[in-house]
Amino acid sequence: MKRLALGRGGRPLRIGYGRIFHEANTFSPLPTEREAFTEFHHVEGEALAKAATLRGSEIVGYMPHAEMTGFVQACRLAGDVETVPLASSLAVPGGPLTREVFDWLVDNLVDKIRAAGPMDGIYLALHGSMEVLGEDEAPEAVILRRVREALGEGPRIAVSYDLHANLSAGLVDPVDVLIGYRTNPHWDLAPTGFRAGNRLVRTLRGQCRPVHAFRKLPVVLGGGTTIDFMKPMRAVFRAMKALEKDPRVLSASLFMVHPYTSAPDLGWAVHVSTDGDLALADDLADQLADRAFAVRKVPLPPMFTIDEALDEVRGDMARKLGPVTLIDVDDIVGTGAPGGNTRFIQALAKDDRGLLSYVTLHDPRLVDELWDAKIDAVHPVTFRGTPGYEQPPVEVEATLVKKTTTDFGRTLRLDFGGTRVIVAERPPLPIHPKFFKAVDLPVRTADLIVQKNFFHYRLFYATTSFRHLPVVSDGASSLTRVRERKYAVPTWPGQDPESWRRYDPILRGLTKREPARVAEHREVLS
Ligand SMILES: [Zn+2]
Repeated sequence: MKRLALGRGGRPLRIGYGRIFHEANTFSPLPTEREAFTEFHHVEGEALAKAATLRGSEIVGYMPHAEMTGFVQACRLAGDVETVPLASSLAVPGGPLTREVFDWLVDNLVDKIRAAGPMDGIYLALHGSMEVLGEDEAPEAVILRRVREALGEGPRIAVSYDLHANLSAGLVDPVDVLIGYRTNPHWDLAPTGFRAGNRLVRTLRGQCRPVHAFRKLPVVLGGGTTIDFMKPMRAVFRAMKALEKDPRVLSASLFMVHPYTSAPDLGWAVHVSTDGDLALADDLADQLADRAFAVRKVPLPPMFTIDEALDEVRGDMARKLGPVTLIDVDDIVGTGAPGGNTRFIQALAKDDRGLLSYVTLHDPRLVDELWDAKIDAVHPVTFRGTPGYEQPPVEVEATLVKKTTTDFGRTLRLDFGGTRVIVAERPPLPIHPKFFKAVDLPVRTADLIVQKNFFHYRLFYATTSFRHLPVVSDGASSLTRVRERKYAVPTWPGQDPESWRRYDPILRGLTKREPARVAEHREVLS
């Protein structure tokens, strides 16, 4: 009798698991190609099963234990579940995927599902803010439809999304279990997979019957820094956790979107799943939407222009204790921007204020031009940044001090005045001081370092850099572009919609991206 209760029809449950994960920045001129996955994270079958253990490393160089590991642990704990590793693919944020790479990813996952034979369910870790060139539907909706076709009608589907997902009916309706990250920045990938696995197993055993309600809010920025443990979001995240303590509630999630996509239905969303009680799910979703909407007007910390920031650093004696960090808010490589912004270099070339400054630049053309040039010699140099990024060219006479190969491809160090520019073939992310060490630049002696990242670098600079200034320039993660792009309904912060209730049904109705509207958006975006 016990085995009947644990497994299904006297046999263990069989559940597949996999991942297709990418966060797109529509303003980046660099499309995401296949190598972005194969060179970073693309693991299948037995190799995936091995990676998704407590001893394994699930996403090498990124996170040892993520959703797949959490999911497998939940199944182990539940007992009598056979987990079937399918395929897991993840690339760092970048421009939209090409059609070719998207088809390759989905075809591969579908092939693995068909080859796996009959399964009771499947768990997929998806992002929710993918974008594919020429695809007018949310890519995750396409993935779920293809997966459903391959599985047939019977098996149940559990999905987890990044907290920055843009929820829509195509992402909600096909799934039985829906879980979102609940920390920002995201450290809870493994717990997310665990929660998804736990709900899926319980659903398959008939121990719960998930029903869903979700609401869309006409908000794309707001809630201050949106960090889950800081004001004002702390209270919202606490409320969600409290909701999940109610045995009638299976999950409660808030999705705060990746604001740099061209989705016409872009907007925050809340999602509540209950055990068979749709009226309760509706009611709690409304309450949660009210809470989230109420904090939309809490602003981000004030930001500096480049010249203001350089003046600030010059006047700040604290820089003697360690470099001041200038966060290049408009060119954040971690949000898919290419890191090819030349505007800091432009300002420093004009007036470096006697500061020792470290700046990184994605400029593959310059790497090509100078790779064979003489070391320790002065060369006429034009910094142009990422091809197609429309950055101002900056001409200087610079000394080529070093040529080396890093995680970001061929890399050069060019010095002029007090400025040290590290030019890389691929979008550079100087999160760790070793990035600068590779070009013989100790971080402690710098007056300032330009970072292309909001949070993670702070872990590695905790004892080095004590002041962090957000700086506005112009690039793919520009919040001005987010504010000023076109939306289907009045959307905060460009406009104040005053109520979310009026626009929720309209946003939820925009399941297909109308080609005309998408073209219109792209025009505004470009
Ligand atoms: Zn995210």
